[in-house]
Amino acid sequence: LKIKKIGTYLFYIESFGFIDSRMYVFIKNRKAIIIDPQISNEIKEILEINKVKECIILLTHEHYDHISGVNWWREQIPCKVLCSSKCGENIENPEKNSARYFNALFIKKEEANIKTVKNVYKDDFSCKADMIYNDEIHLNWEGEKIYLREAPGHSEGGSLIFFNDNIVFTGDNLVNGNLVITRLPGGKKELYKKKVQPVLEALSPVTWIFPGHGEVAQLYEVIQYAKTERRK
Ligand SMILES: [Zn+2]
Repeated sequence: LKIKKIGTYLFYIESFGFIDSRMYVFIKNRKAIIIDPQISNEIKEILEINKVKECIILLTHEHYDHISGVNWWREQIPCKVLCSSKCGENIENPEKNSARYFNALFIKKEEANIKTVKNVYKDDFSCKADMIYNDEIHLNWEGEKIYLREAPGHSEGGSLIFFNDNIVFTGDNLVNGNLVITRLPGGKKELYKKKVQPVLEALSPVTWIFPGHGEVAQLYEVIQYAKTERRK
């Protein structure tokens, strides 16, 4: 578990095994925003300490490593899940949310890690959204401005999630340390170049990027990764 402080905002960060997909949590007024939930007893304890009574779950995209905790969290605390309409469609389907193929990611990895992840891994995983949006949606959440806009490219159901003016949760449309993968099912290089890359490039270079994988950084430190991978 890590903590990142941006000004007066405190974010809790959880990482999913060796693939390092990131879950982010922000707490205010006994409510929490959870982005890309994974199962985490540590985060659950933090919510309990902060007397959190309800959560809104936002999804950056439909892939299994970013939604694996949705059903578990619903059992812990009242939650509402919001994502793009395409994401909402795809998370219900283990093929479209890639749970079915998740196994393949483990093959070359260390045995210990495989065991850790297999404990929570379900190849028939599916979950449901409570609210979906098309194009974009603005929320006023406990006085914080949240803005989601559709960001297809890495996957069909991607969103860029803006938190006030200086923080963006990019999911796998910008990760720290690797170029953007568009070769998975539903990924489209052309859409990334048209719908996502220009939006990221237009942001202030000091914008804080909370990526789908890897460490939080400012845009100028990671903008070189806002490009699609070359086909090998
Ligand atoms: Zn992904």
